[in-house]
Amino acid sequence: MKFELVHKGDWSYYRTPELEEAGIVHGFFTKASPSPEPYGKDGKAFLDAFALQRFIIMDQEHGDRIHVIRDGEKAESGDGIIIIERNVAGIIKTADCLPVIIAAPGLPMAAIVHAGWRGTVRKISLKAVRKMVELGAEKEGLIVLMGPSIGPCCYEVKEDVYSVFNNEGFPEGVFRRAGGATYLDIREANRELLHREGVKEIYDAGLCTYCSDGRFASYRRGERSSRQINFVSLRG
Ligand SMILES: [Zn+2]
Repeated sequence: MKFELVHKGDWSYYRTPELEEAGIVHGFFTKASPSPEPYGKDGKAFLDAFALQRFIIMDQEHGDRIHVIRDGEKAESGDGIIIIERNVAGIIKTADCLPVIIAAPGLPMAAIVHAGWRGTVRKISLKAVRKMVELGAEKEGLIVLMGPSIGPCCYEVKEDVYSVFNNEGFPEGVFRRAGGATYLDIREANRELLHREGVKEIYDAGLCTYCSDGRFASYRRGERSSRQINFVSLRG
């Protein structure tokens, strides 16, 4: 499954045409795209542009709390959203952390999670998959998209992070060693978790937030307050 860059009004974002055609409206925005904030004019413009009724944007905690949005629910804080209600966008903000979209085509159901290294160690993407299966999704039919995140090219970590992943049973392959330094491959770590669980269709946009010519906000590069938006929703 290929990712394409789409421009729509003020927004530029990556998506896959296949999911779009399956009625799963989604996007991984570039940092130049306006951020929809609740009650702001960009929020209204976002809803209009994507024909949505509302969006869920949370205080993210680097945890593993996942909300299910079925029938008018709200979610104040957490790091994962499972969308069942149509025309509602679940939004995750990132600046190096990995946004993961999990779609169950054929059902009205899709999820988006915020997987930094802490969320990955807590296995938030795996927990979202298990929750979706509890809610009626077929594991074998799930499609996972991994959006822009800091890549193994740039994500140097210290021994403490290495040990945490090691203790949680992640294989050596989620790290890259070069020049005496250790780099974490956060996408490989999530791919590993989901692949072991039996999820077959996992696609990586292959975009590094740190070294992609300033297309994305990168916390590590010093953008401490800038974030990009990633969203998923179900067309009505
Ligand atoms: Zn990079």
